[in-house]
Amino acid sequence: MAFDYDLFVIGAGSGGTRAARIASGHGAKVAIAEEFRIGGTCVIRGCVPKKVLVYASRFADAFAEAAAFGWTLPGPPVFDWAILRAAKEKEISRLSDIYAANLERSKVEVFRQRAIVVGPQAVTLADGRTMSARHILIATGGAPSLHPAIEGMAHTITSNEVFDLATLPKRLLVIGGGYIAVEFASLMQRLGAQVTVSLRGDNILRGFDEDMRGGLRDLMRAAGVTFRFGALPVRIDLDGDVRHVTLSNGETLACDQALIATGRHPATQGLGLEGAGVHLTPHGAVVVDGGSTSNVPSIHAVGDVTDRIALTPVAIREGHWLADRLFGGGMREVNYDGVASAVFTTPEIGTVGLTETQAREAFDVVDIYKTSFRPLKATITGGSDRVTMKLVVDGETDRLLGAHILGAEAAEIVQALGVAVKMGAKKADLDATIPVHPTAAEELVTMRERTARYTR
Ligand code: FAD
Repeated sequence: MAFDYDLFVIGAGSGGTRAARIASGHGAKVAIAEEFRIGGTCVIRGCVPKKVLVYASRFADAFAEAAAFGWTLPGPPVFDWAILRAAKEKEISRLSDIYAANLERSKVEVFRQRAIVVGPQAVTLADGRTMSARHILIATGGAPSLHPAIEGMAHTITSNEVFDLATLPKRLLVIGGGYIAVEFASLMQRLGAQVTVSLRGDNILRGFDEDMRGGLRDLMRAAGVTFRFGALPVRIDLDGDVRHVTLSNGETLACDQALIATGRHPATQGLGLEGAGVHLTPHGAVVVDGGSTSNVPSIHAVGDVTDRIALTPVAIREGHWLADRLFGGGMREVNYDGVASAVFTTPEIGTVGLTETQAREAFDVVDIYKTSFRPLKATITGGSDRVTMKLVVDGETDRLLGAHILGAEAAEIVQALGVAVKMGAKKADLDATIPVHPTAAEELVTMRERTARYTR
């Protein structure tokens, strides 16, 4: 049977664009549909614009610290949100154009409209055209979840809207305690907002190492962020531009914006997948096998829509290897162990491998090496910065199971350390490494004293 395309990709984000280009490179006839902007969440309203805002926010610290190093500023620094917003827009437009040009160069046909699945090998575009494809790739990503139910939800924004606010809020309520919530709390506070974070749990960043969670919470507090633990908004009333928020603990507070960041869900609503017989999880994620294929052999899914590890490099790897498998031959399954990641707060968290809690559940003997110190810069400025580093080691084999860093440049450091963890490095390998001095990261290879040993 002749198909219009060998591969039809729905969603031109991280995973979809990679799969489309690689498949085309293998000689497949490929089309991709995108209903919003080419590049997807990461480029348009995720990783990239967020990092631009993080860079902007850190000038606040630099200005405050400058005097201790001999600098005198001409006057109090003034921040202009509109200039930053425009710079951000220019950069994401540039990247989006590059993504589109790369698709064109790869001879991928692009449809800038919504597509849905109408059968195991058929898709329909918003303009009504139906096309057949030997393989369909669902790469539609995720969307912010609007829960818990709040009376007055219409008066909240999500990470989709926060980048394009007309003005920087003076008082910002961040609802949620995950990485996106704390990143925005941290950067907005530095840009000049008075930030309150309200969350259901008793600490931020569920699932991260406890020392990172506690350490970051304390440093964010010291930087001026207020936390309301075990309290979520139940009602928001709008009075002019001011939002009056009633929390579940009965407390009320006023703010100028309320950013809801309580999680994301796979974008499968209205996509026609159930009709095509594709199994979804109760959360709406496409159920796939290790090769990213659903229970319908011609329908595949990669990235956030599969609810595996919702990170850009993971989506890219999944898309790449799926395209290799379908059109290049061979079978490679993505290995999800030791995926390093970061939380771009100030200071940052860089993390790879098992947390102490996870290791103690899985291994008989776990050794912990931990250090916490004031970085050199803070000793000059008198600032409250601290760096915390933690190595989680299998006490029986000496293998490094996890590494967790809270401090400046933690994301960059953990990127390199992630290679060691992935290679199965032992603590003895770190000990054998002669450090770079003076750095904060040298502590990672100079920690000799075991902080604790836990035996099951
Ligand atoms: P996406 O990149 O979301 O792409 C999906 C695309 O599909 C979208 O463009 C969407 O418009 C389109 N689409 C959906 N439905 C249809 C349809 N029916 N028809 C046509 N098009 C459709 N990850 C990191 O690794 N590092 C970070 O620092 C980081 N920061 C983040 C910050 C924020 C605020 C957010 C929200 C996410 C962040 N992420 C980060 C996560 C990262 O953005 C995602 O993991 C990544 O974008 C997933 O790629 P994807 O291909 O699965 O989907």
